[in-house]
Amino acid sequence: MHPLAKLDHAHVWHPFTQMRDWLAREPIVIVEGEGAVLRDAHGREYLDANSSIWTNLHGHNQPKINSAIQRQLKKIAQSSALGLANEPASLLAEKLVRAATPHSALRTPHLEKVFFSDNGSTALEVALKLAHEFTRRTRGKQLGRASSQAAQPKFISLEGAYHGDTVGAVSLGHIDLFHKVYSGLLFKTDKVMSPYCYRCPFNRAKPERADARVYRKCNWECVSQVERTFSKQKKSGNPYAAFVFEPLIQGAAGMIPQPETWLKKVSEIARGHDALLIADEVMTGFGRTGVSKAESGRQKAAILFACQHENVQPDFLCLAKGMTGGYLPMAATLTTQQIFDAFLGEYHEFKTFFHGHSYTGNQLGAAAALASLEILQSRKSIRARQMIETVLRDELKSLWQLPNVGDIRQVGLVAGVELVKDWRTRGPFAQRERAGIRICEAMARRGVLTRPVGNVIVLMPPYCTTPRQAKTMINVLSAAITETFRSNRPLFSRVRAIARIVHA
Ligand code: PMP
Repeated sequence: MHPLAKLDHAHVWHPFTQMRDWLAREPIVIVEGEGAVLRDAHGREYLDANSSIWTNLHGHNQPKINSAIQRQLKKIAQSSALGLANEPASLLAEKLVRAATPHSALRTPHLEKVFFSDNGSTALEVALKLAHEFTRRTRGKQLGRASSQAAQPKFISLEGAYHGDTVGAVSLGHIDLFHKVYSGLLFKTDKVMSPYCYRCPFNRAKPERADARVYRKCNWECVSQVERTFSKQKKSGNPYAAFVFEPLIQGAAGMIPQPETWLKKVSEIARGHDALLIADEVMTGFGRTGVSKAESGRQKAAILFACQHENVQPDFLCLAKGMTGGYLPMAATLTTQQIFDAFLGEYHEFKTFFHGHSYTGNQLGAAAALASLEILQSRKSIRARQMIETVLRDELKSLWQLPNVGDIRQVGLVAGVELVKDWRTRGPFAQRERAGIRICEAMARRGVLTRPVGNVIVLMPPYCTTPRQAKTMINVLSAAITETFRSNRPLFSRVRAIARIVHA
């Protein structure tokens, strides 16, 4: 075993990992990376097929981001945002505000203020606390009472929601496997049906070899459920304070994409029932959900956020992961002047937002984020994103021939491949069968790294991935599925075998 692997085994506790399994084999120790390639301590190379847990945008060792960090490093790495401003954080805040409003349809509500923090969970915590306090203050005033006497603000999020691992973010989550054991620590939030077309009880269509969103047969019952839930809560006299959602695609829930117009419909319902909108774009932000159709010519600036594809403007936009191009831990919560104003007052009124982290507005992170934004807005990057999206779309089609592939769902540069026992029945694998984990292990042996979410294999390549590398990722996934479920031969060869028997 490599000496670094030994040290890891001796001392490091890994996130979301059964450490008994981890300790049973030599871990891959990454020592270098370039573009979409990672290199381990033994000199083996791997394709980074999940962009290092959904963070990396432009590849590893990106020259422009490297030099931006080096330039900043010559000046200063970090000074506190508690009591001090700094150069790259101020510049970045302005750029983020602009990116949040690429065209006039998104002017209201205008996202104007940026609260920096360190990661996706803290970006959500900030939105949650601000929405909570804003609601108490404004609803208290409407009722002519002190904010302490206003009803406790209630939050609602989607089934299968995942918004991070800090206690507030976990409270917003609805994944029993991760969240149930902590129920004693959490505050209660409501959940509402998410549009998981492939397994939707209202979808009357039989399984087909296509994305379930396309062939579904339903009457948008999921939207009616949202309407009913919001309306019931409003009638109780304490409307939801905020609706928290991942726009266009829910990640950790199992890469669950939303059918076109779902986001627009439910945001209008939420707004119509007095709820603020908290968009968690920790995974979807910074171009991940693809280049919009309108973008090819009409708009000057690239659309960077998922909400913008449906002209939905939230009251809070939570960003992290890809913000620094996947280089450094930095996050931002964007919000409106109206929310900001509710925290203004005389010092002794104590309306201050009492929240902050030591590295808030970190200069190195901000410098990396500025460089990343510049790359994202370049025509070259937009073209590269369009190209990878198309290659993924074309190449993923080959997986339909595998009987253990139940659904393939792609939104921009994110794809989820749901594994099932047999596509005709949609029969799921039990968690304990570790289907997703086994496939990813088989992929790693073939030089492609990703992590599953349950039985869903995630493909989320960095934007610099070449068409050849993207094809390799998909071919390797196909080979891993075939090898792992060897007893199930590919559908087409079975059909051919049956045809031979029939014609004999
Ligand atoms: N929100 C979403 C949608 C996420 O996918 C994640 C992380 N996977 C988080 C929040 C939490 O981000 P972090 O791990 O940086 O705290």
